[in-house]
Amino acid sequence: MYPRLIIDIDKLKRNLDGVAKITKEEGGCSLMIVTKGLCADPEMTKMVIGHPAVDFLADSRIKNIKTYEKEARKAGKQTLLLRLPMACEIEEVVKYADISFNSEPETLRLLDAEAARQGTIHKVVLMIDLGDLREGIFFKNEVDIYGAAQQIIEAKNLELYGIAVNLTCYGAIIPKNDNLSQLADWAEKIESRFNVKLQMVSGGNSSSIYLIGKGQLPEKINNLRLGEAFLLGNDTAYGAKLSGTTDDALILEAQIIELKEKPSLPIGEVGVDAFGQKPYYEDRGIIKRAIIAIGQQDTDPGSMEPLDPKIDILGASSDHMILDVSKSDTQYKPGDVLAFKVGYGGMLKTATSPYVEKTYAR
Ligand SMILES: *Cc1c(COP(=O)(O)O)cnc(C)c1O
Repeated sequence: MYPRLIIDIDKLKRNLDGVAKITKEEGGCSLMIVTKGLCADPEMTKMVIGHPAVDFLADSRIKNIKTYEKEARKAGKQTLLLRLPMACEIEEVVKYADISFNSEPETLRLLDAEAARQGTIHKVVLMIDLGDLREGIFFKNEVDIYGAAQQIIEAKNLELYGIAVNLTCYGAIIPKNDNLSQLADWAEKIESRFNVKLQMVSGGNSSSIYLIGKGQLPEKINNLRLGEAFLLGNDTAYGAKLSGTTDDALILEAQIIELKEKPSLPIGEVGVDAFGQKPYYEDRGIIKRAIIAIGQQDTDPGSMEPLDPKIDILGASSDHMILDVSKSDTQYKPGDVLAFKVGYGGMLKTATSPYVEKTYAR
């Protein structure tokens, strides 16, 4: 059935070998693989759990972690919740995640009480915001950073496992030696003030891996968290391809349901489209327009690349995607299947959509 996402586990394994070589061998960091980009696909997580280089498996959703925590822990890997816990999910966080990222005193109180109830110690990584302005205690707020560290250290059922920063995802701030050095400084300040050793100083996501090749990752940083670098082979700071990886481990296929010659400009007064946007149309004259049975509900049209390079994606409504196939060397017809590489948005939405079948290469 179409549309379908074809997941090549062998290629993903090679991508994992590639990012592990950079992160662990060259960077001297531990490796956290982030599973959310592919909705914690079970075959993918099985491969990741079985890979000897992986130290942690992480996701932003406890629902995803719940699907693999038993197997991961059995294989000696720790599970980590990336998104700050919601007050309503504390019980599951303590149950299924060995470690969670945190920045709120009230959430820490809830975690400590719940860990006591479950008779366990929950590990906490304190998030520091270095200017990307998503989660974390702002790096200039000394009182709150020391206060949170102290609260965790004093809590009977919490362990201060480390500190971390997230960059690029929201504010698009690029990790550099100077901003990451602030994280390294904070790690040293917390260690000396409280006389503790932080196990983890996590220097970011797929946008930080490029610093290893340049020799600019601060010494004190000892962990990276990689989703897109592993799944799509991208350095997300500057968009370079990472050595030893491919960008075609995931292929999306969709079927043509109509193919007709029509004008490229709609006829009549232009209002707004299905999503309230005023569309822009390029006049290409009469073109061969293919409609494939996939839409905004299942994917992100701006995050797909046709394997036939002579096809242009013109746009999509909820369930229909319009392509210009006029210049292609192939004479397409209804029923034909078109294939695409996906970017981060395309991957995330296709992996999440129940309308997109998931299959495995070979
Ligand atoms: C999503 C996420 C990651 C992984 O990001 P990639 O760009 O896919 O590597 C790492 N850390 C946090 C906190 C995240 O939310």
